Amino acid sequence: MTQLQSLRGMVDLLPEQTRRWQAVEAVVRAQMQRWCCEEIRTPLLEVTELFARGIGEGTDVVGKEMYSFIDRGDRSCTLRPEGTASVVRAALQNGLLAQGVQRLWYGGPMFRYERPQAGRQRQFHQIGVEWLGVSTAASDAEVIALAWDLLAELGVTGLALEVNSLGTPEDRKLYRSRLVAWLEERSHALDSDAQQRLQTNPLRILDSKHPQTRALLQDAPTLEQSLAPSSRARFDAVLEALQDLAIPVQPNPHLVRGLDYYGHTAFEITSNQLGAQATVCGGGRYDGLVQQLGGPPTPAIGWALGMERLLLVLEAAAQVDPAGRAAQLVRVQGPVAYVVHRGEAAARQALLLCRGLRQRGVAVEQDASGSAFAKQFKRADRSGADWALVLGDAEVERGVVKLKPLQADVGEMAQEELPVADLDRLALCLGH
Ligand code: ATP
Ligand code: MG
Repeated sequence: MTQLQSLRGMVDLLPEQTRRWQAVEAVVRAQMQRWCCEEIRTPLLEVTELFARGIGEGTDVVGKEMYSFIDRGDRSCTLRPEGTASVVRAALQNGLLAQGVQRLWYGGPMFRYERPQAGRQRQFHQIGVEWLGVSTAASDAEVIALAWDLLAELGVTGLALEVNSLGTPEDRKLYRSRLVAWLEERSHALDSDAQQRLQTNPLRILDSKHPQTRALLQDAPTLEQSLAPSSRARFDAVLEALQDLAIPVQPNPHLVRGLDYYGHTAFEITSNQLGAQATVCGGGRYDGLVQQLGGPPTPAIGWALGMERLLLVLEAAAQVDPAGRAAQLVRVQGPVAYVVHRGEAAARQALLLCRGLRQRGVAVEQDASGSAFAKQFKRADRSGADWALVLGDAEVERGVVKLKPLQADVGEMAQEELPVADLDRLALCLGH
């Protein structure tokens, strides 16, 4: 029989990798708690219209990347390609907005039918933040600082923050007409994708990855030149607040983001470790979205970061600095103790010992091979355990267990043997 494979772009997280993810998630949780963000969990499946209306029909995500299907009740459903629209829907549906400002965060899988490559999958995972009901320039800086500080806390280095202002819908309308006029004069020099976008979504041409189009865009009019004075002042206030927070900023007039709902502040955090898929985190202000989804006018801002790319950056950072925070996070942690035993009586004793220690909070692995001591010790070493607990015939006879340090840094034991029945004392000796 042929073996079945996972779908293209859908990746298994094996235990070693899952452990790293859990370490990152623990840091995220702690950080969100300090920033008073509450977690929200929404369904993976939503009505297609939510994304069509929320993200915009002319975007790549809605136009080309969604996993949509008709369900048995004849409804068009879509696996969520991003989190913002769902969070806003949930906040509206459950009356959260009536309770005041919402500072929400979420984490989980997203689905986009893209061409898989390093740092780009069809099922990928995001951690995101959505603040609903906040409008000040300071809140823009605050939500950016949340992302920046989280990445710093994780030990990520080589980051750059790029910021742009997309202004108001009126600013963008004015800019769009200026940009289209400018590009139409040069349309022969545009790649075919850009030529098509000139009709459907001209602002998206600005973040084209096509080299020739990028070169041409160097001289294009910028959005900044079309910002109304109030939009300009708002952008300056955001930049100033970021400066106060000592977060280095690179204004990028070509940064437009892939989803239609953004206005005013838009930003991306990139890493110099990632190559082509350099963006780790992206977000911005989306003051129009809540209304677009049927709610009251509500200012809002948020961001999402890609877990797969974050892990790639962390792994690179760990290589550069093996003693640093990132290395600590990605390091495989072994159990506290590995129980090595030989003979029937010892096996029975080992079972009791392991359970008793686990009940006292100690992570213990029990050898299950029954092979020679030397082989078991090799396995104990490979497990990364701090200690080997040894039960041989001699130990069983005397009612003791031998403690053997496996790592240089666990220190010397006052005693290298303890009564096997004294589980409290054993657990204490092992640090619990
Ligand atoms: P890109 O330009 O790389 O396609 P995007 O603008 O489509 O990114 P967003 O919708 O802003 O991405 O999502 C936020 C983050 O989620 C990205 O910065 C990236 O880290 C991650 N991300 C987006 N799409 C994927 C994907 N297909 N695979 C892995 N991570 C992704
Ligand atoms: Mg994309």
